Amino acid sequence: MITTQSIADIRAQVKAWKQKGETVAFVPTMGNLHLGHITLVKEAKTRADHVVTSIFVNPMQFGQNEDLDAYPRTLADDQAALIEAGAELLFTPTPEIIYPKGMDAQTFVEVPGISDVLCGASRPGHFRGVATIVCKLFNIVQPDIALFGQKDFQQLLVIRTMVDDLSLPIEIVGVETIREDSGLAMSSRNGYLSAEQKAQAAQIKRTLDKMACSLKTAQSIEAVIAQGQIELEDVGFRNDYLDVRNANNFAVANGEDTELVILVAAYMGSTRLIDNLVVKLA
Ligand code: AMP
Repeated sequence: MITTQSIADIRAQVKAWKQKGETVAFVPTMGNLHLGHITLVKEAKTRADHVVTSIFVNPMQFGQNEDLDAYPRTLADDQAALIEAGAELLFTPTPEIIYPKGMDAQTFVEVPGISDVLCGASRPGHFRGVATIVCKLFNIVQPDIALFGQKDFQQLLVIRTMVDDLSLPIEIVGVETIREDSGLAMSSRNGYLSAEQKAQAAQIKRTLDKMACSLKTAQSIEAVIAQGQIELEDVGFRNDYLDVRNANNFAVANGEDTELVILVAAYMGSTRLIDNLVVKLA
């Protein structure tokens, strides 16, 4: 696997592959890779001739008081895992390479509407940072397909909308959430949790499952959310949001919807965790 910080190197390699008529899949990440990321890379291998990945802790998507500096950086381990998974090219730019004029002087991409609710409301500017970096990385790599985790459900929707709105010729593939045996969704931020907090955090999936059952038995959405909030608070979570939306258009759910998504963000200590569950009503 070639690791490079150079945009020109990435373009030259991808161009060489494409000239041979070969296809390219792309998996962008922020590093500190776990089985969730590796599953995306392995899935990418089954869908294209070559897999390109990136590791970039994107400062534009972090707020002032968030964990940008503390975010775990584990390049050597990540490289070993990516080689094992079959990636051939790894892009590891610095912020200066990506934002040479500085972030404030940089053109940005903003997907209206869905960028302002839930995670977007709690983290103003977050999805502008996500859309801008993903658009830039797409233009650098120029992949045929790109894979993203459904764990970041709202992010996936923002990216699908951006690709659609800007007519980008890239197929977006969502990959199911990979979980610990306890049900806790794998995340680089789980490393901030103590063993005890990690055990308590497994309550998120149990609550999502229980809420899904309650929604299927036609209980009111408001009552189901209220019960879920109590369960999470009982194990020590400070809830950011717990909401039920239409899984396809992200509108606030109503009694008519048949495909719902329960979305949660909650703090265990100072660590903010997110998760979601899609619920299909018969
Ligand atoms: P990140 O490094 O957190 O920016 O994540 C990079 C990609 O991996 C994104 O598309 C995430 O949605 C995806 N991802 C992160 N955690 C998981 C997980 N537990 N299961 C599946 N995909 C994941």
